[in-house]
Amino acid sequence: MNQIIGSSEQTRRLPREWEAGMSMARKYATSGPRYTSYPTAPQFSEDFDLTRYRNWQGRREHHGDPLSLYVHLPFCHDICYYCGCNKVVTRKEGVAARYLAQLSKELEMQSQIVGKDRPVTQMHWGGGTPTYLNDGEITELMHSLASRFRLLDKGYREYSIEIDPRTVSSATIALLKGVGFNRISLGVQDFDERVQKAVNRIQPYTQVAELVEATRAHGFRSLSFDLIYGLPYQDHVSMAETLRKVISLRPDRIACYNYAHLPERFLPQRSIDRHTLPEPEEKLLLAQMISATLQDAGYRYIGMDHYVLPDDELAKAQGESRLQRNFQGYSLQLADDLLGLGVSSISQIGDFYLQNARDLPAYYQMLEDGQLPITKGYRINNEDKLRRRVIMSLICDLSLDIAEVEREFGIDFRVHFHDALEELNPAFEDRLMEFDAGMLRVTAAGRPFLRNLCMPFDEYLEHHSRSGKAQFSATV
Ligand code: SF4
Repeated sequence: MNQIIGSSEQTRRLPREWEAGMSMARKYATSGPRYTSYPTAPQFSEDFDLTRYRNWQGRREHHGDPLSLYVHLPFCHDICYYCGCNKVVTRKEGVAARYLAQLSKELEMQSQIVGKDRPVTQMHWGGGTPTYLNDGEITELMHSLASRFRLLDKGYREYSIEIDPRTVSSATIALLKGVGFNRISLGVQDFDERVQKAVNRIQPYTQVAELVEATRAHGFRSLSFDLIYGLPYQDHVSMAETLRKVISLRPDRIACYNYAHLPERFLPQRSIDRHTLPEPEEKLLLAQMISATLQDAGYRYIGMDHYVLPDDELAKAQGESRLQRNFQGYSLQLADDLLGLGVSSISQIGDFYLQNARDLPAYYQMLEDGQLPITKGYRINNEDKLRRRVIMSLICDLSLDIAEVEREFGIDFRVHFHDALEELNPAFEDRLMEFDAGMLRVTAAGRPFLRNLCMPFDEYLEHHSRSGKAQFSATV
């Protein structure tokens, strides 16, 4: 398939399906949400009345329903120039210890409110760099969680952690398994040395390969890689080599993100020379190449930048409506409530979205004052529920049963969503989406455009676009 690798002469002889994909990408290029929630985070408000949530929790009986936890650990040793995450770059002694002390106060308060005895079927530690914590601190935090929530050590559970390969040894991998993690996500980004230097993140292939070996040796259930395309000096030649190395390590899941260069919004990106970034055409080519190469290597594209091996649970779950999308991306639907812990984390509990203070001083101060560190929130209404159901079904199941939605929400789908369906006309004409026996289906050609296909169902998008802020990244 890869006539393009090697020289610019050859890049003109692209496989016909790549050409078609690139021309479609040009047509649908815009910016839009990744829909890790609906409504999306810009809709959360500081005017939210937290007592409404507290009162609702006071009346609620959760009957031991499963719970999902997200723990945000914000510190990093060094800055990666492409970074748009909420993090604190520091090497100051004691910062992690202070954070853990404050976090344990939040755990105590939240476990009283949300329920101590609910089985935690999913847990994810993200950042920042969770492995900024040393081995002792990792163990301490896991104990702190276990003393406030019902962590599981048997039965089906997904406990995952994001790892910066530069920060851990094989011994730490053993410790992570020992304290209960069964999934690992490695931030790989790119294996090319020149690219790594330009983004200030040097991590040789051998370092990653050793960790991969260690995760296999310790029997982790699943290994994910994060990659980024659109970084400085990336081109189809360097990307071919990165993909060859990635495929040789055979992670179960690969998330491949499109780098958005927004230096006016993310200060570290000012260290990137924009002239070293791939031109838009080259970037489109990279996207096509990643998709074709990974699928040729046996990965299945489940949508929204995610590729998985066919025997991975996410691949199986997609056909069985057991897939969900939340702030951590795609996962199995194992719990309805997600409790976010730590600075800037977001919870989705019942009809509520709740967001913690985004900066450390505010987060610490609220906990010192004995308050929940929540600064924003949103309670979804019936229209939100309907639209969330439509958008999440398209993203997770790649289809929507119209009759089922009509029954569930008492609407006539074609009337209620008349404008959205009109807006989707070009997508129907381009066969990105189709009506088929009462189902609205995303076709194989439509998968790379999932965000575009969901956006017409988003009631708030127009309002956000009018606000003039660059809030969302490129859709393709
Ligand atoms: S990319 Fe990850 S490791 Fe790098 S600065 Fe951002 S949060 Fe830290």
